[in-house]
Amino acid sequence: MVANNSKYSSTRYHDSSLREFFSFEDVVLKGLASDGGLFHPHEVPNVGSDKYLGWKDLSFPELAYNVMRLYIDNHEISDAELKDIVNRSYSTFRHPDTVPLVPLDEDKSLYLLELFHGPTFAFKDVALQFLGNLFEFFLVRKNKNLEGGPNATRHHLTVIGATSGDTGSAAIYGLRGKKDVSIFIMFPDGKVSPVQEAQMTTVLDPNVHCLSVQGTFDDCQDYVKALFADPETNKIHHLAAVNSINWARILAQITYYFSAYFQLLKTKPDLEKVKFVVPTGNFGDILAGYYAQRMGLPIEKLVIATNENDILHRFWRTGSYSKSPKPASEPHEGIKEDGAQAHEAGVKETYSPAMDILVSSNFERLLWHLSLEHELETNPEVKYESSVRAAGQKIDSWFQDLKRTGSFTVQPEILNKARSIFATHRVSNAETLDAIRDCYRGDAIAKKGYVLDPHSAIGVAASLREIEQQKTTAAAPTVSLATAHAAKFAGAVELALQNEKGFDFNTVLPEQFVGLNDKERKVLKVSSDEGLFGIRNIITREVEKEKIAAHALNGSSSS
Ligand SMILES: *Cc1c(COP(=O)(O)O)cnc(C)c1O
Repeated sequence: MVANNSKYSSTRYHDSSLREFFSFEDVVLKGLASDGGLFHPHEVPNVGSDKYLGWKDLSFPELAYNVMRLYIDNHEISDAELKDIVNRSYSTFRHPDTVPLVPLDEDKSLYLLELFHGPTFAFKDVALQFLGNLFEFFLVRKNKNLEGGPNATRHHLTVIGATSGDTGSAAIYGLRGKKDVSIFIMFPDGKVSPVQEAQMTTVLDPNVHCLSVQGTFDDCQDYVKALFADPETNKIHHLAAVNSINWARILAQITYYFSAYFQLLKTKPDLEKVKFVVPTGNFGDILAGYYAQRMGLPIEKLVIATNENDILHRFWRTGSYSKSPKPASEPHEGIKEDGAQAHEAGVKETYSPAMDILVSSNFERLLWHLSLEHELETNPEVKYESSVRAAGQKIDSWFQDLKRTGSFTVQPEILNKARSIFATHRVSNAETLDAIRDCYRGDAIAKKGYVLDPHSAIGVAASLREIEQQKTTAAAPTVSLATAHAAKFAGAVELALQNEKGFDFNTVLPEQFVGLNDKERKVLKVSSDEGLFGIRNIITREVEKEKIAAHALNGSSSS
């Protein structure tokens, strides 16, 4: 019997005849449910303090294993297999604590959780190192059980994604050299930072393909969507996505909330609750914190820190989730006298590009949990299944509204629930640079000389505001999540610190970045004329080449 927490369903299943459960493998390989919803565990396991306190001295990989084990059935991945996947995923991290906790200010009880010690120096490695190994594990197993011997057609996974920076490099480092998996990452030509472009294109493994596409990031995303919807492509390839809605990414991120708590417990044995502040874009990182809280970790508050792309901040203030800052009911400034509608206000470009989003795709999962709770409370007499259906219906209609009108509004009860768990702060571009500078100088925090990247700086700026506001109450320690290494975002860091005496960017440059620019590169250019047709041809050609090479290899090893 499969436990409820290792069964998955979609946030939008509302028709009971359609309602079905998915295995962990389905969820990882599909990414998105066919009804457009996101997968969520049927039940979130509550581990309780008895159990999780027993984890306090575990290493990060051991902790990850224990957390993940609760969400993946043994029949799908055995204990030994899961341990092996997890160990390999975190052996690539440079720091002995994997995600070390650094005190920034003991008086304010402010700490920084450094999540950037993985191969690409950004927190996305925590999830993508694991996801890459999972993909390979599932494919290798399918091929081992292949009927028809070594000459039968092997299963092959083709991962495609678009990136404006961090996701691409983390996905490439997660999948490089993996058996039976190819990865194609598209980025807008000339529009990603030089370090990020170098990180991606200097990976020479035969299964890694970077496509420098003439156009914008949105064009790249449109190509990805078009390929997923293209019958021709789907006939030839088994496509998979690595974007932040993949459940395995959320799952992997739950671990570091526990790890942070245990690291804090070592210096504060009478620790009760903790507050986490998270620089947020697609709501993946902070959603993992929400799951940790539901599992029983004593989190007092989860604080969302946004940049000027502040849809979440606006939601928490108003209960309306709206792409445009103006409520949909007010006349839109963009509507001209002749009735022609101007372009929908786009994404703002900020110093924290990994958080430049119009909508936060993982937010749907939180809303699902909150509306299910609401249904269960308002209609306690109906069957659990009926409440699940009602919640799914609501999610479905909200997201239809979002598509049609650009916004939806939730009931006050649901907003109140959201407010009891989360707080939000919006940090402007100017405030981001100020935070980098004030922290470096030791004006804002006790620690001097720490160089924050712009994303982590947004978290620290929000943390300081939160601490200021809560001065009177007996405050829980604040853990601010550091999502990238400063060297990845040289532009903003140099802008903030250029006039600081004694600051030299080279001192923050990790050895892995030295000489990166001179390394050999592999990248395919796609012009806007070639477009989707050109991209499709490249994918088919390159995958075919890889398959031939793999076949030759298998043939020779079996003889
Ligand atoms: C992706 C990313 C974020 C945002 O994370 P979400 O899970 O999308 O909220 C923040 N900072 C950095 C450096 C990132 O790469």
